[in-house]
Amino acid sequence: MLHDPWDRCHLWHPYTSTVNPLPTYKVTSAHGVRIRLADGTELIDGMSSWWAVCHGYNHPRLNAAIERQLKDMSHVMFGGLTHEPAIKLGRKLLEWAPPSMDCIFYADSGSVAVEVAMKMAIQAAVSMSGSHRRTNFVTIRSGYHGDTWNAMSVCDPVTGMHGAFGSALPIRHFVESPRVVYGAEWDPSAVVELEETIAANADEIAALILEPIVQGAGGMRFYHPQYLLEARRICDKYGVLLIFDEIATGFWRTGRRFAWEHAGVEPDIMCIGKGLTGGYMTMAAVLASRRVADAVAAGEAGVMMHGPTFMANPLACAVALESLTLLEEQDMAAVTANIESRLKRLLAPAATLPGVADVRVLGTIGVIEMKQPVDVGAFQRECVARGIWVRPFGKNVYVMPPYIITDKDLETLVNATIDIVRHLPQ
Ligand code: PMP
Repeated sequence: MLHDPWDRCHLWHPYTSTVNPLPTYKVTSAHGVRIRLADGTELIDGMSSWWAVCHGYNHPRLNAAIERQLKDMSHVMFGGLTHEPAIKLGRKLLEWAPPSMDCIFYADSGSVAVEVAMKMAIQAAVSMSGSHRRTNFVTIRSGYHGDTWNAMSVCDPVTGMHGAFGSALPIRHFVESPRVVYGAEWDPSAVVELEETIAANADEIAALILEPIVQGAGGMRFYHPQYLLEARRICDKYGVLLIFDEIATGFWRTGRRFAWEHAGVEPDIMCIGKGLTGGYMTMAAVLASRRVADAVAAGEAGVMMHGPTFMANPLACAVALESLTLLEEQDMAAVTANIESRLKRLLAPAATLPGVADVRVLGTIGVIEMKQPVDVGAFQRECVARGIWVRPFGKNVYVMPPYIITDKDLETLVNATIDIVRHLPQ
C-alpha cells in the first residue's frame, strides 16, 4: 500500500498536521540513488534525505562498518568509559576541521549540537569576560539552526519555521542576512549593521552564530565569503565568540570539505551533523578551540554542562569513520566540481521560465527559487509520477543529490524537476 491509512491517522511527520496531512509515500528499500516505493515505483533521490545521505543508500562499506561494530558493542555509556570508534573518529575529525579546533563534543542530532554550542559559548564567554551578562546571541536573518528551544531562537523569525513560538523564545539580536551573493562584488556596507549591533551590545553577547556561505532551510541563500572575514574581524574586535553551524554545509556539500574553507576563516566553535554518518543514523558533533575549552573549564561550573545518554554512540562513530574514509578515498573536489558544472548547465533553462525568480548553484546544491510559494503536495505527486524525489519548501525547489549520482541520473532528475516547474500554476 503506497499511502498507509494508519500512518496517516497516527504518525506525525515533519511539519505536518494530523488532521489534513500532506501525503506520505511508503518506502520499502533504497539503494544507491534510488528509493523504492511500496508499489514498486523507483525514484531518483534529489534530496540526500535532507543533506545527509552523501554516498547513497545501502552502501556496502557503510553497512559492513556497522555490522563489524555491532559484533563488539552497539552502545556503551560515555560517562567514565571510552572506545576506539569515538577516538578514531575524533582524530579524523580534527584532521578535517579548521586547524584551531582541538576538542570535540559528540551530540545526538544537529539541533542538540546547536544547543551544546550555545551553552558552550555562554560558559566560555562568561568565564573569559568575568561578566554574567554575556549570555545572549547575535545572528543573521534567513538562518536556520534546528528545532529545539535555543536553536529556534536563532532561526529567522519569519522563514525559520518557528514563528508560532514568538514570545516564548529568548530574544536574540538579528541583523540583515548577508546581502552580497556568492560570486558578486563585495560591498563593505553589507556588514555595517552587524558591526553596529555587536558594538552596541557586546557586553551582553556571548557569540555570533551563523551558517557559513549557505543559509539552508531559512532560504537556500549563497553569500559572499568576505562576509565571514568581516564577521571574524568584528567578533575579535569586541571579544565575541564566532560559531559556525556547518551541519548542512559540511562534508563537501558546497564543493569544499567544509564551507569555512571558501573564506579561510576559522570559527571558535563549529557544529557538524547530517552527512557525518553518511546519513545512516543520527549523530552530530561540536568542535571547539582549546581557548574555548579552557575557558569552559576555568568557569564557574568547571565542566561542560551537557551529557546525552547516547553520546558518542559506537555504531554511529563507526559508520561516520567509514563515511569519512570513503570521502577521503575519492577526489571529492573533482566529484563535486563535476556535479556543480552539470547542475549549472542543466538548470540554466529554468531561469527563463515564467514564475521563476532565480536559479543558482553552489557545489552540489541546485536551487530554483520561484516567485510564489510552491504547493508541496501537488509538486511531489508530479515527482513520483516522473520517478524522482524532490521536496520543495516555501518558494524554493532544490536538488542536492547523493554524490554517487551518475551523469545520466542527474540529467533525468533535473530535467524532470524543470518539467514540473514549467507546468506549475502561475
Ligand atoms: N543546523 C542546520 C544548518 C540545519 O540545516 C539543520 C537541519 N535542517 C539543523 C541545524 C538541525 O539538525 P537536526 O535536524 O539534525 O536536529
